[in-house]
Amino acid sequence: DHRPIRRALLSVSDKSGLVDLGKALVERDVELLSTGGTAQTLRDAGLEVLDVAEVTGFPEMMDGRVKTLHPMVHGGLLALRDNPAHVAAMQEYVINPIDLLVVNLYPFEATVAAGADYATCIENIDIGGPAMIRAAAKNHAFVSVVVDTDDYDALLADMDANDGATSDDFRRTLAQTAYARTGAYDAAVSNWMAGAIGVETPRRRVVKGKLAQSLRYGENPHQKAAFYKDGSDRPGVASATQHQGKELSYNNINDTDAAFELVSEFAPEDGPACAIIKHANPCGVARGATLKDAYMRAFDCDRTSAFGGIIALNRTLDAATAREITGIFTEVVIAPDADDAAREIFAAKKNLRLLTTGSLADPRATALAWRQVSGGLLVQDKDTGSINRDNLKVVTKRVPTDAELEDLLFAWTVAKHVKSNAIIYVKDGATVGVGAGQMSRVDSTRIAARKAQDMADALELDAPLTQGSVVASDAFFPFADGLITAAQAGATALIQPGGSMRDDDVIAAANEAGLAMVFTGMRHFRH
Ligand code: 5GP
Repeated sequence: DHRPIRRALLSVSDKSGLVDLGKALVERDVELLSTGGTAQTLRDAGLEVLDVAEVTGFPEMMDGRVKTLHPMVHGGLLALRDNPAHVAAMQEYVINPIDLLVVNLYPFEATVAAGADYATCIENIDIGGPAMIRAAAKNHAFVSVVVDTDDYDALLADMDANDGATSDDFRRTLAQTAYARTGAYDAAVSNWMAGAIGVETPRRRVVKGKLAQSLRYGENPHQKAAFYKDGSDRPGVASATQHQGKELSYNNINDTDAAFELVSEFAPEDGPACAIIKHANPCGVARGATLKDAYMRAFDCDRTSAFGGIIALNRTLDAATAREITGIFTEVVIAPDADDAAREIFAAKKNLRLLTTGSLADPRATALAWRQVSGGLLVQDKDTGSINRDNLKVVTKRVPTDAELEDLLFAWTVAKHVKSNAIIYVKDGATVGVGAGQMSRVDSTRIAARKAQDMADALELDAPLTQGSVVASDAFFPFADGLITAAQAGATALIQPGGSMRDDDVIAAANEAGLAMVFTGMRHFRH
């Protein structure tokens, strides 16, 4: 039911594919409107074109700085065709609607890349182009906007499928693409300027989000840093309320995020849970009968590392837990809420930061995860993968007991939040050994077991805490050695993705040691 495209404004710096597009549009009875160089190219190919200067009544001026910036153009792009007042304005001022805008911008990025001088770069900042693109994209209910030569064929195909009009879906997609282009364009201008005028502080750099805090420094004191918030309403460190303590540092924010994301895996209605984080890895995660119990059990996994750690809780912080936490030095506590008695106890500890978030984050909510590499960005979906009992495949002779299964799933959930290679020993709903960030899986298995032994020595226990534990591995065991190490440390059951070439060897070793093992078919690399 949409009106066929009747008038198109073409204004492109990159003229590749232009003539073919112009011809195809004319064949479809579209009137062409164009700026200087673009019009010339079309005319040279024998096409009839109306000059924008003709329409505006003004010549292109100031070296092309002002070409299309005129109500005759912007009115034609922005007018709502179904709004009587807009239609009346079009009639009164004889503004003709523009149904299709094809623009690609002055090659600013290429000019910079070619090493042009300052004045040349400035002159290559397109002004009218982005203005028209943004106008047309805003009015995508009526106007199609194409900013990429690669989209010409899709445009024609969509017109042909819709009797010369375009589909609502297609126009929406074009509009979204258009804003991505203008956003990236201005980011390129700002980042170039930052370098050109010698602005080094990250606070002035364009990133996705709004500057929320200039940090005292970054990961190290010689690095400048800032905290940007993207306006997401996801509960977490970015949206939390800080009740006391000094400003969060770069590392605090990073670790607090890791802590809260991990504890958010444990729904409050399933019981209290606590995660203690150091250097973005958990050094203890536990469920407990009470919140205090959960904290104490998490603490007992690795008391040494927990010193100066970051604690996340899945329920309202209460007085008993708060009192227990103040027993050692802790940097940050984050929880959905804190009751008055707990706040009073913390108030005596001036350096302890308390953050409340209102609720837990939804671990299944999709989002994008970004990582910078030299010269680019890697973007991927956040890891929201999860499994339940039904997804598990028992591969050993022995089937895990119910209690083992419970712990296996707990260990698996924790493994998702531990840097690879991740090996997690769990007993009765508490981690008893965490092996993180090693280059070999067997080393992670050994380190976690050794730390458990250290804790047993410190606590003067008869046997290491790994005795009778279960083990999660974030990716498959490539050889049987890791599994054998876990068995020697006292593990009775394992959870891992499976899928190694040597799965048969690993399963045989498990059977030989009397272990139960389940495959998830999903891995949780985290780097
Ligand atoms: P042409 O080659 O047709 O002379 O110019 C096309 C280029 O001019 C396109 O890249 C388009 O984005 C840009 N452009 C169109 N209108 C304006 C304007 O009013 N000011 C500036 N600075 N650039 C414009």
